[in-house]
Amino acid sequence: MSNEFPHSHLLGVEELSSKDITAILDLSESYISLNRKKDKKKTILKGLTLINLFFENSTRTRTSFELAGKRLGADVINMQVSSSSVQKGETLLDTAATLNAMHPDFITVRHPDSGAVNLLAKKVNCSIINAGDGSHEHPTQALLDALTIRRRLGKIRGLTIAICGDIMHSRVARSNITLLKTMGAKIRIIAPPTLMPACPEILGADECFYNMSEGLKNVDVVMMLRLQQERMSGTYIPSEKEYFHFYGLDKSKLSNAKKNALIMHPGPMNRGIEIDSELADDINRSVILEQVEYGVAVRQAILELLAERIKND
Ligand code: ASP
Repeated sequence: MSNEFPHSHLLGVEELSSKDITAILDLSESYISLNRKKDKKKTILKGLTLINLFFENSTRTRTSFELAGKRLGADVINMQVSSSSVQKGETLLDTAATLNAMHPDFITVRHPDSGAVNLLAKKVNCSIINAGDGSHEHPTQALLDALTIRRRLGKIRGLTIAICGDIMHSRVARSNITLLKTMGAKIRIIAPPTLMPACPEILGADECFYNMSEGLKNVDVVMMLRLQQERMSGTYIPSEKEYFHFYGLDKSKLSNAKKNALIMHPGPMNRGIEIDSELADDINRSVILEQVEYGVAVRQAILELLAERIKND
């Protein structure tokens, strides 16, 4: 098993090969079935401890890791730390040393600074899972998005996927571009000029658009992003109304995509700003709640694969 998944941490998707990604997605499938049963419990993490260390707010990611750990039999502790009250670098390393002394087996970390999770991984003896660091990476989000696409459309290779909105501040966009490219998809990024990085080509997308209707032409998947206000200093959009008019997903813009194109959003959604409420709730096109469901399964699969290495060490 350790040959199948040769990693001690999950810090980003950049370190994952297509074989690693396929192994995670395949294992996640079995957890989707298990999670739909009455008895969802397994004991493969019995005796192991998982700490969820969150320096930023989270609803679905933290709950999802907590459920994943508990359903696999781990002891799970949640720590919500305020990052504004103290100097961040010092807090992170102090917290890491303190937690490390308690012998956890996994720590999932969310932090507002890009690179903070990689730094922490160097200071502890357990497996670190990146639950989102600044605008850098959110690997489990990209894995659950890939799983959602693969289940709905039967494949990833050859699909054209548009990622739209606040590309500049989005770790979801970065992780998805890398992962979906590794799996053979063609990626378009669409944003207003103020929310597109200065050199979009370094993100690795195939095409870059500033006009939503043009960018959505014939795509298989439309992935919307949240406006990451907490990472913005200054004004990036004229008004929410105008943003919705030009970059919010509505029926008219969506009509450029393929007839059955999927609608995705990582949440939390700003309805009427990034996406029209009717489309977000369209049970035939929107897979937003499937993304949430599969998030638990993907995190169970990651924990299982990392645990194999812990047991074999
Ligand atoms: N939940 C995702 C994240 O933590 C997306 C978002 O917050 O917009 O990056």
